[in-house]
Amino acid sequence: MILETFPVGPLECNCTIAGDEGNGEAMVVDPGDNIPHILARLNGLGLTLKQIVVTHGHIDHVGGAVKLKQATGASILLNKNDLPLLRMMDMQAGWLGVPTPEVAEPDESAEDDMIVGLAAYPATVLHTPGHTQGSICLHFAAEHLLLAGDTLFAGSIGRTDLPGGDGRQILRSLHDRVMTLADETRVIPGHGEETTIGEERATNPFLRG
Ligand SMILES: [Zn+2]
Repeated sequence: MILETFPVGPLECNCTIAGDEGNGEAMVVDPGDNIPHILARLNGLGLTLKQIVVTHGHIDHVGGAVKLKQATGASILLNKNDLPLLRMMDMQAGWLGVPTPEVAEPDESAEDDMIVGLAAYPATVLHTPGHTQGSICLHFAAEHLLLAGDTLFAGSIGRTDLPGGDGRQILRSLHDRVMTLADETRVIPGHGEETTIGEERATNPFLRG
């Protein structure tokens, strides 16, 4: 699997390109901003974008999705429980002091247990509400890889004080769906450095008890 993660936008959302070196197909997760760079990397890697998956409806993760779709024709997947956040994009842009990006309803809702991504490298959607009601993680079981969105970070967890957030719910999601994964699972969070499930199980202060 071709895998490349880089920060985009003022909040440095981790955007990930996953590609199939066999057929040249790619998925992009969380194209929050900086679409020219994402397109340049797809081009540089010789990949054709087939699918855009957004881990949740916050502007720093979803902000560039429509632009990327317009440039490539790829479909957009986002869990339907975050549609209310898409409708609050003006307000979200106000939080950051940036222009409101164009938003559109996703082509499909990314539902719990749905298989998304590439035929050779499928990922399972884990619906992990709490940071937002539509937050998802993507689990590439064969690769022992989790794209965690803003649910789990190295040494921290997602904030729950924004609209749609729920502190008890994110802990339930983490305990029931995320921390059940194997210790060796590599975690690429929505922001910051990558980690592993084992490292977070041993050291993350939010996961004690
Ligand atoms: Zn977020």
